[in-house]
Amino acid sequence: MPDRRWILAVLATALLPVLAGCRRPAHHPAAPKRRSAGASASGAAPPSAPKDTAAARRAKAAAVAPPIPILMYHVIAAPPPHYPWWRLFVTPALFADQMAALQRAGYHAITLRQAYAVWTGRAPAPARPIVISFDDGYQSQYTAALPVLRRLGWPGLLNLQVGRIGVSGGLSRAQVRGLLAAGWEVADHTVTHPDLTTLTPAALVREVGGARRTLQRDFGIQVRFFCYPGGRYNATVLAAVRHAGFLGATTTWPGAAAPRIDGWWTLDRVRVDANESPARLLSALNWYAHHPPAPPPAAFPPAVRA
Ligand SMILES: [Zn+2]
Repeated sequence: MPDRRWILAVLATALLPVLAGCRRPAHHPAAPKRRSAGASASGAAPPSAPKDTAAARRAKAAAVAPPIPILMYHVIAAPPPHYPWWRLFVTPALFADQMAALQRAGYHAITLRQAYAVWTGRAPAPARPIVISFDDGYQSQYTAALPVLRRLGWPGLLNLQVGRIGVSGGLSRAQVRGLLAAGWEVADHTVTHPDLTTLTPAALVREVGGARRTLQRDFGIQVRFFCYPGGRYNATVLAAVRHAGFLGATTTWPGAAAPRIDGWWTLDRVRVDANESPARLLSALNWYAHHPPAPPPAAFPPAVRA
């Protein structure tokens, strides 16, 4: 049977846009290390026991913590006619059906910070925990997604691009505050949504830590997590995100998120496609729950590597 993760990754690369959306996992230079921990539903132990306390705690978490799927949405609206990046759009009706199906299946949405608390043994896991993330900061995330989640009493995770606030089609500051008031979590998604692997050191600091400081100052919140634009990162980017004071970061690599022995810096997500029926979404989540994270290719996508 072909690996669904592989199929999804290739499809995501082939079909999703360069536009503002987080379109694909890119280079994974740190992948062999992160994946070798065997953090997964299988509960495989890490290859060797770290000596210092912090590393030992991470290793323990990686060995026993459950994978928690993080759904990835962009625009909750019907796509414009003939729009080339229509797959970034999920209609409000389909989104509502997907959320209702998750609830019927026993899922409970939590924030990424709550997931981190579960992974680090600081909080019990609810039944079938799931994180519902929304990238970039589109107005429909407030007008269409919020009402659905509010009815369920569920929070969302907003991966907010600072430079998108207040622009046409983007969330206003008041709407961001409204999401926060409804219990949503805001994560840093840079200022301008660049390919972080191409930046100068100074620009990298501005886009990662600078965006975090802006969000914290403007909204009076603590921003604990980062989301790589387009899923692109390398060792330099990983180091910058660590240095900026985050607890972890999300990618676009398909899978259920789980801690690694080296931390929470490359958390997988589950992209929800434009035509993903609720049944298909549940099937995908079930598949991920029973398939431990596998080492991704050293470069992504593999076709580009040739
Ligand atoms: Zn994005």
